[in-house]
Amino acid sequence: MIPFLDLKAINAGQRQALCEAFERVLDSGWYIMGDELKAFEAEFAAYCGTDHCVGVANGLEALGLALRAVDVGPGDEVIVPSNTYIATWLAVSHLGATPVPVEPDAGTFNIDPARIEQAITPRTRAIMPVHLYGQAAELGPILEIARRRGLRVIEDGAQAHGARYRSERIGGHGDAVAWSFYPGKNLGALGDGGAVTTQDPLIADRLRVLRNYGSRTKYHNEVIGTNSRLDELQAALLRVKLQQLDAGNARRAQIAGLYLNGLQGAGLVLPRVAAGMDPVWHLFVVRHPQRDLLAKQLASEGIGTVIHYPIPPHLQPAYATLGLQPGALPVSEALHREVLSLPIGPTQSDAQTNAVIAALNKAVAGMAAPLRRETELSR
Ligand SMILES: *Cc1c(COP(=O)(O)O)cnc(C)c1O
Repeated sequence: MIPFLDLKAINAGQRQALCEAFERVLDSGWYIMGDELKAFEAEFAAYCGTDHCVGVANGLEALGLALRAVDVGPGDEVIVPSNTYIATWLAVSHLGATPVPVEPDAGTFNIDPARIEQAITPRTRAIMPVHLYGQAAELGPILEIARRRGLRVIEDGAQAHGARYRSERIGGHGDAVAWSFYPGKNLGALGDGGAVTTQDPLIADRLRVLRNYGSRTKYHNEVIGTNSRLDELQAALLRVKLQQLDAGNARRAQIAGLYLNGLQGAGLVLPRVAAGMDPVWHLFVVRHPQRDLLAKQLASEGIGTVIHYPIPPHLQPAYATLGLQPGALPVSEALHREVLSLPIGPTQSDAQTNAVIAALNKAVAGMAAPLRRETELSR
């Protein structure tokens, strides 16, 4: 059996340090907004190479609060990738703003900068690149468009802790970067958690006030804030996990290297790493026209796979109000039909990885010639 991701094994590797962190918090008698949070914020900011880090409750709140901190609100439009986890879109919608999807590059899966300008209108306030599956988006061209058109850039870093864009870690390129510490992320808590990093002291200050009831001083409320805090226990556990992040990412890169060298077969498309990127391989996503059959055959050999994601946001019932029909975003729709995420994680062995390669190559070789895509058939 090769699990898709073995969280129990990952956390068992740091069991003693995690237990010590728990006891430290337990014995401190201080559970919200204390020294562990301050220390984690300083350590994660240093890791990302940014001046500021503000811990919040989860990744969705990190995205929403970052947008609020740059004054995105009702009636605004925000450019989002059509191919992303729905949280990116939801953060925009929760503010009464409208997500405007832009198609990805099918090789890297990330938002295609060449398609952004045509989506800009007088109501556009911000661009939200997502560093999907662990590879940084093309930040250079995106930041250039934003500067020229007077737009903010809020990045979604939920899948890319430690990823580099032209040798610099993401965290401080745009106006702010939102992070999730959901347990399965490369830097995962033992519960929910999130943060925003930024180089802008004003944005950091607004975030600190917004996350804590709009209050700087207890019982003095400056703005209509919320309760979105990263608690002491998760902060203490994240400090332990942060120490292993680079080692975990390096192991993921080794596994990705084995996959890239070993996987082959008609119809199989491997992920493309763009020039200047150092992905952290949160996911290893392949494409195949008979994806569902492939997943079934791997499952029959005890290999766990996941689809990220089966339905694109614009075709979810939640976004029926946008009125986007099937075919509106063909690149994303084709990806969602074909993508399959293979097992990858810091505790996965070479033997397990080689077993996945052998099983997948055998399954692909046994399949009929790739079916023509529906989009081609309908032409
Ligand atoms: C996980 C994730 C989020 C949301 O994070 P939560 O902590 O679960 O709220 C947002 N965006 C992307 C791309 C994610 O993968």
